Amino acid sequence: MNFDYIIEGNTFVNHSFQQCCIGIEDEKIVSVKKILTGAKKKRFPKQVIFPAGIDIHVHFRDPGFPQKETFQTGSIAAAFGGISCVFDMPNTKPQTTNKNRILLKIEYANKKSVIDFGIYAGISDENLHLIDDFSLLVPGFKIFLGSSTNSLLFSQKNLSTLFKNLSDSSKPVLFHAEDSQCLQENKRKESHLSDHHNARPCTCESKSIQSILQYSPFPCPVHICHVSSIDALQILLKKKDIVSFGSTPHHCLLHIDKNISPHNQSLFKVNPPLRPLMHQTALFHALKEGNIPILESDHAPHTLMEKSGEFSEAPSGISGVETMYPLFLFLAYQQTISFSEIVSSVCERPARLLNLSKGFIKEGYDADFVVVDVKKQQKISSEFLHSNARYSPFEGFNALFPQHVYVRGQPVVEEGVLIAKPGNGEHVINNESGS
Ligand SMILES: [Zn+2]
Repeated sequence: MNFDYIIEGNTFVNHSFQQCCIGIEDEKIVSVKKILTGAKKKRFPKQVIFPAGIDIHVHFRDPGFPQKETFQTGSIAAAFGGISCVFDMPNTKPQTTNKNRILLKIEYANKKSVIDFGIYAGISDENLHLIDDFSLLVPGFKIFLGSSTNSLLFSQKNLSTLFKNLSDSSKPVLFHAEDSQCLQENKRKESHLSDHHNARPCTCESKSIQSILQYSPFPCPVHICHVSSIDALQILLKKKDIVSFGSTPHHCLLHIDKNISPHNQSLFKVNPPLRPLMHQTALFHALKEGNIPILESDHAPHTLMEKSGEFSEAPSGISGVETMYPLFLFLAYQQTISFSEIVSSVCERPARLLNLSKGFIKEGYDADFVVVDVKKQQKISSEFLHSNARYSPFEGFNALFPQHVYVRGQPVVEEGVLIAKPGNGEHVINNESGS
């Protein structure tokens, strides 16, 4: 068998650590065996090799808001966080709601991204009937059922038409589920994180999820984004067979009962909001038990300036594409959660949801890996992060950042240094049925 090269080391394959060789040819994994010969070897004797992560939920703000993030800065941040492929949300300027705008963003990201990417189409009340125009260009569709930053409104009454229009689609529809009427009713003056939680209470999330579930069984895959509360979790756990859902590192690891300095409150302002401790505990427990299918960063950067003003004026959104996988790799190393569960929720299930040949160290899959030295844990500091958002809600948390990151067999990060050039990333299309 011919290989371009072979990677050898302690590898997390089939949910266990094995000393093995990975043969790579033409960007793909062509063989995984205990011993392989016949090509140049890269050996990692002291490190551990994992599949690279997939982030199904980022807002790279590009085009439109380069001060917050660009495809270049966002993808570099993702690469340093061990992510080989990101999926970008439609609320850019212009919003990706028609064929031309989607093509524009693909062209744009093709020039700037250092890792692979896909571009979601935003579905609103206006373009609901035009899905066929652009469905072949996108990995899936995003719907905002409650208002968020620069969002596209979709009325609940249109859900039945939506599912009719997506009948037999193999691509998922992803929901931001917060009931807009409920949000309206709970509006209040906000000066603290607790006000934000009360202004967008858990009931708004669960109500919205219930209204989506009314249409089950669904004609296409459905994913509920960033689950933030026990209420939503309880509903979804009963429907695990028919609906995918995700939670974020911030909802699983942060809560508002912690003493957060009044000056820093807006850094933690996000939609859906961070909740009191019991919600975080329940989400983390569910993740640990294998009951949260997907971890998604919902990387939503803003400038420090925008986040520094009055709490009520500060925009909602937390950055996290660079820290997601490293935070959880550290927790797994510490045995707080299993490596198996982290690889499932950061690599494997995202690949399955979007029908990608990524996320697994397995023959036929893209040669996307991270190489981690478990002895080199680092405390997260916004100073060394690469997003344009110069802050992290996880400041001071321990993390395991990868030393090497490979995307389709090419080194993107080597010895902690960026090697890939903007434009290295490829547009990912999931039109073939496969893996
Ligand atoms: Zn989002």
